[in-house]
Amino acid sequence: MKEHSVQVTRVVSDITCDICGQSVVNEAQKNNMANLDSFAEYARLVAEFGYGSKRDGEKFQFDFCEGCFEDLLSKINKLKAVKKAK
Ligand SMILES: [Zn+2]
Repeated sequence: MKEHSVQVTRVVSDITCDICGQSVVNEAQKNNMANLDSFAEYARLVAEFGYGSKRDGEKFQFDFCEGCFEDLLSKINKLKAVKKAK
């Protein structure tokens, strides 16, 4: 005889953009994936600073939707242009 028990498992149920707060996962993907931990179709910025840095030991992680990533990319390109001009 099989005995059953209910076990609680932590899963990633959604991933939201750190700028606009919207989900980076469309509804179809949410319905098809029980755990979004392996979902990788979004932008992620990870920064870690080590010894000798002003931010020694600090870690940053941001997730972005496609729209906010485009805005960020545009900002980076503007900064590059400003820095090159100097
Ligand atoms: Zn966003």
